[in-house]
Amino acid sequence: MNSVTSVLARSLLARSVLAALAVGLVTLTPQARAQDKGTIAISMPTKSSARWIDDGNNMVKVFKDKGYRTDLQYAEDDIPNQLAQIENMITKGAKVLVIAAIDGTTLSDALKNAADKGIKVIAYDRLIRNSPHVDYYATFDNFQVGVLQASYIEQALGLKEGKGPFNIELFGGSPDDNNAYFFYNGAMSVLKPYIDSGKLVVPSGQLGMEKVSTLRWDGAVAQARMDNLLSAYYGNRKLHAVLSPYDGLSIGIISSLRGVGYGSSDLPMPVVTGQDAEVPSVKAILRGEQTSTVFKDTRELAKVTAEMVDAMMSGGQVPVNDTKTYENGVKTVPAYLLKPVSVDKANWKQVLVDSGYYKEAQIR
Ligand code: BGC
Repeated sequence: MNSVTSVLARSLLARSVLAALAVGLVTLTPQARAQDKGTIAISMPTKSSARWIDDGNNMVKVFKDKGYRTDLQYAEDDIPNQLAQIENMITKGAKVLVIAAIDGTTLSDALKNAADKGIKVIAYDRLIRNSPHVDYYATFDNFQVGVLQASYIEQALGLKEGKGPFNIELFGGSPDDNNAYFFYNGAMSVLKPYIDSGKLVVPSGQLGMEKVSTLRWDGAVAQARMDNLLSAYYGNRKLHAVLSPYDGLSIGIISSLRGVGYGSSDLPMPVVTGQDAEVPSVKAILRGEQTSTVFKDTRELAKVTAEMVDAMMSGGQVPVNDTKTYENGVKTVPAYLLKPVSVDKANWKQVLVDSGYYKEAQIR
């Protein structure tokens, strides 16, 4: 080989190595190979709410740190879309499916298929119902979320001190999300005694998830319902509190309230709760529009989920702290429940900024 052809050959070789690297045919180092523990498929409901984007990003990070590859997909709140994504993940040979379901009741066939292939399933944040093929559930204490929201109303109105009567309206989450019932029931465990004693009055009379739920957690649906409630029941009444289970609904509710003049010195905003500590709502809390929210640290949820996966894969002890609560219609799914934290004007900085979850500049 003369020197020209040998340079040419070397450059061709270099190019083909680069090409092989690009398509993943060559593994860089033995360590990288030893670290490759397979793919964890992560199915998230929607990017329309920041919390799920955080959940996805946090999981990709912790799984990568533990040596897994990830396949993260968002279904934009479209049930057939999520189903198709999950079926595809199964076909592609995921080791574990981590699923935050849009509708917790629609995945049974896909999960049977996964189980037949030995693929494990973790229900993430939302319980998957009507399937025996749900191995574990990683979530927050969902009943406690509702308790925190309602306790905030109780304290802000001074109900424990015997103040009242006050007018309240209730909003629930999506009726196809198991969590929505836990939030509502948790909240009612605090509010119901005051409703029974007349210290809280629901002028619309709309109580119970069948009357107060909000399909797909849609803020526009909550806004339209608040508009209707205000025009039908509040002609000569003032509204003092709104139980809202999620920041995205609170934003719609607040905008409806603003539309009829709430938020002025004559007509102050009612107490409005929320959940997820999303940036627009934390800002609304600082402006004095929303009153409180419930923070659920998605970094912690990602960590617990990755620990569950690691333990399942290595035959170790899977971390659970609740084996009684989450009955999915077929089995009681062993769960790990994390603690939600109530956030308001007084503690937002300590909970959200000092913990490193947000930078202060994101909020103000
Ligand atoms: C989650 C909440 C969230 C809601 C709407 C629920 O399943 O637990 O954190 O606010 O869905 O996305």
